[in-house]
Amino acid sequence: MVKGALKIHSQNILPIIKKWLYSEKEIFIRELVSNACDALLKVKILQEKGQCLEDGEELRIDIHLDDKTIVISDTGLGMTAEEVEKYIAQIAFSGAEEFVALYEKDKDQIIGHFGLGFYSSYMVADLVDIDTLSYKVGSEGAFWSCDGSTEYDMETSSRKARGTSITLHVGTEHKEMLDKAHFKKLLLQYCQFMPFPIYLEGECINKKEPLWIKSALDCQAEEYKDFFKTLYPNDLEPLFWVHLNVDYPFNLKGILYFPRLTAGHNFKDKQIYLFCNRVFVSDGAAELLPEYLSILKGALDSPDLPLNVSRSMLQTDKTVRQLGAHISRKVVERLVVFYEQEKEGYLEAWPHIEIIIKLGVLQDEKFAEKAESLLVWKTSKGSWVSLKEYQERFGDKIFYASDSHVSSELLELFHAKGKEILLSESAIDGSLFSYLENKASLHFQRLDGALDEMLLDNDREKTLLDDKGQTFGARLGLFAKEKLGRSDLQIEVKSLASDSLPGFVLINEQERRMRDYMALHQAEKAHHFKPQKTLVLNTNSPLIQSLDSLDSKDPLLAKEILEQVFYLSLLSQKELQGEEVGVFVKQQSMLLEKLTSRL
Ligand code: ADP
Ligand code: MG
Repeated sequence: MVKGALKIHSQNILPIIKKWLYSEKEIFIRELVSNACDALLKVKILQEKGQCLEDGEELRIDIHLDDKTIVISDTGLGMTAEEVEKYIAQIAFSGAEEFVALYEKDKDQIIGHFGLGFYSSYMVADLVDIDTLSYKVGSEGAFWSCDGSTEYDMETSSRKARGTSITLHVGTEHKEMLDKAHFKKLLLQYCQFMPFPIYLEGECINKKEPLWIKSALDCQAEEYKDFFKTLYPNDLEPLFWVHLNVDYPFNLKGILYFPRLTAGHNFKDKQIYLFCNRVFVSDGAAELLPEYLSILKGALDSPDLPLNVSRSMLQTDKTVRQLGAHISRKVVERLVVFYEQEKEGYLEAWPHIEIIIKLGVLQDEKFAEKAESLLVWKTSKGSWVSLKEYQERFGDKIFYASDSHVSSELLELFHAKGKEILLSESAIDGSLFSYLENKASLHFQRLDGALDEMLLDNDREKTLLDDKGQTFGARLGLFAKEKLGRSDLQIEVKSLASDSLPGFVLINEQERRMRDYMALHQAEKAHHFKPQKTLVLNTNSPLIQSLDSLDSKDPLLAKEILEQVFYLSLLSQKELQGEEVGVFVKQQSMLLEKLTSRL
């Protein structure tokens, strides 16, 4: 038996590995199984080159648990005693790196390149044994054993079969690792897509090939859906997907799915599984992608990403940035094809993809270049339009409203003039409109945002002067100002193109957008922000006309009716808020009482 000392610079590297390098102790499963995969792959390569005997031995990994140990065995290339010394004992000297230097072109398939993975086993084990026999002709088996201190034992082994068995003597405080169901769950998570068969107590756990390794041309829709089910067993079928395959300037394969959003969708969910050469790395790949793509699901596999990724590392890494940019380009290209070639499907999918497109336009200039033409809205008459189509059909000023305005008489006025209105339901539309106005010379206006020429009927303007030399309009204006007595409210009297509409409240477009923006981002401050309101009274409305004579008979009732006109307008424009609701309701019942007492 040989006594040796681990060749490391610091005596304290194991505690560092335990505490710092790996955040989760189960990582040892990933590390040891991927080492076994590497060893198997090396045999395969050596056999192809005729440098290792083809002995018909299946290339596989076997894992067994009992009440004290976990044994991970492979039929890989094994190690000689010198190699164990060199690769295992000499921490941070990675055998993978040396192998790569020899077989440069197969490099991307080799998983490990840190030379530390093996030591993650000490996160759960008090003692680790390695029993191994090298593929090299005439080799003698080697047995290495170390309790995690800097001392280890090494002796010869009677092992006859090529390969390596690693035995972890699991510490009592990590007993849960010996539970088969628990272990299987973790094994599936980390190793489900590894390239050699893995048997847990004789049962193969990785029968399915990861679909991303196939060429997109060879994949059927059913396979994509099926693969999605494997990744997310509880999810609804995805809408569509993007198959990524890049070789330059970085390596990336993967499939990204556009999920169906359901009510209560948790946007903070971890969505995308990140792999490095088929080894699961994390499910927090959100940092890899721009925020607007974070609702996508699927799997990404890139050997260019380090195995022990940390968040800060991901954010500053150049490859990561390039990768994000590449993905967003592929996503927008896929959306363009979808829009151009399957319009109907695109419109059906819209509620699920609109958030991606709208946020993308706002957050990423490059994405916006292509995605702006993908923005669509439903109009008040039920058709779908892009901005360009709206402009072609209805002119340059783009009118919009939220669905709560749909039944309003104001909207009828627009319809009567042959205009349709964009229905804007999404909370980010306000920001989006402002952005689009800044960029292109577009102009958006909510239907109650300005007194549009179109709403007026100038021919019927009442120009007749009364005995005081006033028009009806001027008289009404003064009357309303006095009766409503509100300094925050402006009054305008107009000849509107509809008789049934007594009036409406005009709300300054820019100020209202500011308020809505505040409501989204700083809700607590939003109520301090009151956009300028103007009550527009319609001289063609019989109700408004009757106020004149009512005022001389029952001035209080005239005042109350005028207030009701104002409140009802606010109500129909979804602007009746706060204490005004109470005032309105109280006055309303008083008026009803008055009405019944007169019957
Ligand atoms: P890395 O995988 O990054 O090289 P590890 O600490 O995981 O670092 O492993 C160190 C080295 O030990 C490997 O590069 C490999 O040469 C050797 N090794 C580890 N496990 C095995 C195994 N199951 N079969 C053969 N060699 C192994
Ligand atoms: Mg390794």
